Amino acid sequence: MSHPIPHLINGRRTDGGTRTQPVYNPATGSVSGQVQLADALTVDAAIASAQAAFPAWRNTPPLKRARVMSQFKVLLEQHADAICALITAEHGKVLADSLGELQRGIENVEYASYVTELLKGEHSRNVGPGIDSWSEHQALGVTAGITPFNFPAMVPLWMWPMAVACGNTFVLKPSERDPSSALYIAELALQAGLPPGVLNVVNGDKEAVDVLLTDPRVKAVSFVGSTPIAEYIYATGCQHGKRVQALGGAKNHAVVMPDADIGNAVSALMGAAYGSCGERCMAIPLVVAVGDATADAVIAGLTAEIAKMKVGPGTEASCDMGPLVTQAHFEKVRGYVDQGVDEGATLVVDGRTLKVPGHEAGYFLGPCLFDQVKPGMRIYQEEIFGPVLGVVRVQTLQEAMDLIDAHEYGNGTCIFTRDGEAARFFTDHIQVGMVGVNVPLPVPVAYHSFGGWKRSLFGDLHAYGPDAVRFYTKRKTITQRWPSAGVREGAVFSFPSSR
Ligand code: NAD
Repeated sequence: MSHPIPHLINGRRTDGGTRTQPVYNPATGSVSGQVQLADALTVDAAIASAQAAFPAWRNTPPLKRARVMSQFKVLLEQHADAICALITAEHGKVLADSLGELQRGIENVEYASYVTELLKGEHSRNVGPGIDSWSEHQALGVTAGITPFNFPAMVPLWMWPMAVACGNTFVLKPSERDPSSALYIAELALQAGLPPGVLNVVNGDKEAVDVLLTDPRVKAVSFVGSTPIAEYIYATGCQHGKRVQALGGAKNHAVVMPDADIGNAVSALMGAAYGSCGERCMAIPLVVAVGDATADAVIAGLTAEIAKMKVGPGTEASCDMGPLVTQAHFEKVRGYVDQGVDEGATLVVDGRTLKVPGHEAGYFLGPCLFDQVKPGMRIYQEEIFGPVLGVVRVQTLQEAMDLIDAHEYGNGTCIFTRDGEAARFFTDHIQVGMVGVNVPLPVPVAYHSFGGWKRSLFGDLHAYGPDAVRFYTKRKTITQRWPSAGVREGAVFSFPSSR
């Protein structure tokens, strides 16, 4: 059964736009919904609704806004099963991973519920005789978020809870490939007490995004997605005078040192490479093994672990990995595996022949493992975003670090070692935004901020955490004096000096 997936404008499910796009269940290949693709008029209505809601919401005491977030967190926890079912039905990831994603999203809501603390400004008494000065964080107005398919619940929750907790209103444009969980979650926010119009959801594609990027009522845009689109969003949004943060793609390297605990490193790499079918911006698609003995041991360990993996529908609790998100993405990832073979890398484990009985029309690709991957190969250089792990052989830590630093992306990286000096050198010098030591996916917790370097992020401020408060507010500094009645001073023509 295929159902329509509309927009949420001014607190109501609303139809808009004449175009639709099918949403698939990737485990079966069947169409589950038809998402409406907003036209300019529909986005205009969402922005107008957010604009109208702004004055009252901006003046709502932060404590009341924070209480909506606390209540929203309770509702998210109560409805976790329904949300995870929606994520898995449209994205394909296993249910346990959907729950992990939702939990990380909930932590951002929890952090937004501390907004009264976070919005406290700075105050200085007597900056001059009888003069006080303070800085406060003021809301921007209408803000917007454009999000990717791979974390359909979590990435929207990186953005709008903190934006609205800071007093802004918001228009969210989720991925058109798996839009249902974001819409469901937005309705829970209404139930939690968020006034209509404070959060609006428009489904759609480039047509909708371009309105958000150019409409002067939108003051700031947060984006998470692939690098070419991030670059476009950043350039277009900035050109139209907006504050923009645009997080892009990744190609994260894990360095394994000769002294590492290989068993632990292999277990960590399995989840980091194949969890969520490799469709994570913090996934590890490349291992840089220092020394041939290290590489041989890592490959032997990974090969043995891959043989134990179960691939199948995300709704089956025994499965470790589900399908890729769409047929088109499946073909793209399989094409990279073909390409790797043509480029001369050694395909140690070939997942292309996998069949999942009863799910022949699903987009399943088995885990793939390459050895002898070399810089210059497309499978080294480009983001594959699938269950394809490549091993690169180097002889020294410096060689490994030079490779990482030369790569266009700088989202995440990690090192497996028992040597504190090597780890400290690595974390100190590596040109990457998020770094793990014996931690394969160093995703910052909600009270730190998330962001890569180089072509993994365009903009100045990272996502969520303390940077989100800075991104979604503008600083105003007020200097105030109340001269005593009757005291009159003459005009002063030079800057006052404190001498
Ligand atoms: P995508 O770039 O295709 O789409 C992201 C969003 O942009 C979607 O909402 C989509 O509708 C919109 N969009 C797509 N094409 C557009 C265009 N031409 N003009 C305007 N808007 C457009 O990304 P995706 O495939 O949904 O997600 C996967 C990508 O996201 C990967 O590259 C992954 O690394 C990246 N990602 C990055 C992070 C991070 O934090 N750096 C987190 C998650 C995902």
